[in-house]
Amino acid sequence: MINLVLFGPPGAGKGTQSERLVAKYELVHLSTGDIFRKNMKNETALGQLAKSYMDKGNLVPDSVTIDMLKSELELYPEAKGFIFDGFPRTSPQAEALDIMLAEKSQGITCMLALEVAEAELEKRLLGRAATSGRADDGDIEIVRNRIAVYNRETAPVAEFYKVQGKFISIEGMGGIDEISNRLYASIDAHL
Ligand code: ADP
Repeated sequence: MINLVLFGPPGAGKGTQSERLVAKYELVHLSTGDIFRKNMKNETALGQLAKSYMDKGNLVPDSVTIDMLKSELELYPEAKGFIFDGFPRTSPQAEALDIMLAEKSQGITCMLALEVAEAELEKRLLGRAATSGRADDGDIEIVRNRIAVYNRETAPVAEFYKVQGKFISIEGMGGIDEISNRLYASIDAHL
């Protein structure tokens, strides 16, 4: 099984690159942001709870996010592997993911971290607001809060994978194809 964590700040291109990795390696894409947005659209209780955090650019609480991811994993018993996109975003989430996978005698293959300059992130997020329709993309204050939350709560998660020798840094500036090719090369070298 290949289990990839695609990591990086908001606007780093995780969603775009996930689509390509899913197609190339035949993996199941688990994006916690997408799952929360689907719940918001369907007006579930989980969606309403998540919305109150997401609209401000804050993280949904760990207990809620971890339970949700756990039940999503159970939906794909036949999967060849997973891409975790937007998860883990905190150290407790990273620990919980290792435990969930260990229960299936699985583990994370590697973390691929897309590195993008902060000024570029702001530009990309504000730019995609028109097409994404996301309340958290169009407002500069919310965008800045998301980046600050990332730096404070999520960036330290890299350390968790570094000590396991599973952290791979990927230059996330450049063309979409160029970045995909960097990802493929790093994954293939790690298999
Ligand atoms: P981006 O990477 O562009 O910020 P996402 O779709 O991954 O977009 O996440 C959007 C929002 O969803 C986050 O700002 C956060 O509120 C919520 N969210 C997504 N994943 C998690 C997670 N693992 N833990 C807590 N909150 C999350």
